Amino acid sequence: MILLERIWKNLREKGDAPAYCCETQRLSYRDLGEWAGRLCGYLQKRFVPGVPVLVYGHKQPVMAAAFLACAFGGFPFVPVDSFTPKERLRAILDSARPQALLAAEPLPEEKIPVLSPEVLDEICRGKKTVPLPYPARKKDEFFYIIYTSGSTGTPKGVMVTCENLDSFANWMWAMFPQKPAVVVNQAAFSFDLSVADFWPALSWGAQEYILSRRTQRDYPSLFSQLEKSEGELMVLTPSFASLLLADQSFCAQRFPKLKTLFFCGETLLPKTAQTLLERFSGLRILNAYGPTECTVAVTAAKIGEKEAAAALLPVGNPKPGMEIRIENEGRLAKEGEEGEIVLVGDSVAAGYVGTKPHATSFGMRDGKRSYCTGDLGWMENGVLYCKGRLDSQVKIRGYRVELQDVEKNLLALPGVDEAAVVSCQDQEGRTVRLAAFVRLGDGQDLTRQQLQALLAQRLPAYMCPVIRIVQVFPLNENGKCDRKKLKEIANGKGTFKADPNNRK
Ligand code: AMP
Repeated sequence: MILLERIWKNLREKGDAPAYCCETQRLSYRDLGEWAGRLCGYLQKRFVPGVPVLVYGHKQPVMAAAFLACAFGGFPFVPVDSFTPKERLRAILDSARPQALLAAEPLPEEKIPVLSPEVLDEICRGKKTVPLPYPARKKDEFFYIIYTSGSTGTPKGVMVTCENLDSFANWMWAMFPQKPAVVVNQAAFSFDLSVADFWPALSWGAQEYILSRRTQRDYPSLFSQLEKSEGELMVLTPSFASLLLADQSFCAQRFPKLKTLFFCGETLLPKTAQTLLERFSGLRILNAYGPTECTVAVTAAKIGEKEAAAALLPVGNPKPGMEIRIENEGRLAKEGEEGEIVLVGDSVAAGYVGTKPHATSFGMRDGKRSYCTGDLGWMENGVLYCKGRLDSQVKIRGYRVELQDVEKNLLALPGVDEAAVVSCQDQEGRTVRLAAFVRLGDGQDLTRQQLQALLAQRLPAYMCPVIRIVQVFPLNENGKCDRKKLKEIANGKGTFKADPNNRK
């Protein structure tokens, strides 16, 4: 793997140069290489290469060491952020069946070996030096497995191969002829947007500068950390940029080194791009597009003033090795015609854990792997535009949520007979929260607050809707739950006038 070869060289040669900075903690390339080497040696003595290892925590330096130890030792890793509630973690464990769990934060004892934060720390800081093995990974081996929201109510694990990641990292390498010295990370490691900063930064010999969840929730500290970082490239969601722009001091005068913003994960609004270009003259804005199933991103567009003036921003040209097709009822759409975006080529992952690829949106086209994204789009002069979803998947602050996933988890709560989840948008059309309508079974007297608390044990906070208990659901002409009506009510555009005779 070229990516790992580059990182291996940097870990040996970059010595005291900062590699991973997280608030008050800082690991140099030497430290990171040593930590990863010891942990890799430990894992190789006890575990079987090729079988997954789960890495749990929130951006602690030991997590960076754990990813490298797994990557060099040949263990596919499953990154899980500690915002994941216990039941969701259990579902991931049941699906991924990892042979070990590396816990950067305390976790209850599981049925598999758990390396606690104390044990991890002791291994990483050990006295003996254990060199990291030279990377010898095969193309088809799984590099990481990232879990994302699934419409069945359980998360689905996307299996990304070494070839997938190498291809992405090479594209990023070419996109940055002048390698940034400091790369700022926003996303949690369980969200594949983080792959766009963590792995390229280490392959460039740059500093990966982490913004923790706590920092992101505290405006003054967020701004002072950002200032301290002297970040040159930031990988972020458009929602996060809006949050930063809400403060007038997010501008070139305060952040003179910031040269590039790499966006991915959700729609970048023209207004956001325009304001950024006004505040940072000469800023390079990259609008990248892709699902986790196709390894972070497969297209990118540079957004300058001309592009930012349009109603919908382009998401760009495909990366090398990828072909984009727009399909309409099984046939290829004409230039400019809308259809489903289908991605074909070497970024397409191997499928979901425990599912046969052909039973899902994965497939083959012209002998190459393909993935039907469920996104609606069109091509114009080789440039892709993404208009939205063909299904009920939404993005909340960049996090992907299947509304059915939330519904299934509501239905799993005691006493809930029926549930419908809809999304609520702000004035600019961004999904800002979810609303759930719930009907309880006869004789059930759970309160809204109780339901809310029970759901929070099953789903991360960003997936938890505001719950409203109803007696009846409005029905449409086909006698089905009228979701359109529920969405209007949730968005304050309608009142609840369900006909009691419609009670199912
Ligand atoms: P995820 O797997 O979490 O990265 O989510 C992938 C989905 O996010 C895609 O299928 C799109 O619906 C959406 N998405 C990603 N990037 C963009 C973008 N630049 N513009 C619009 N939608 C995007």
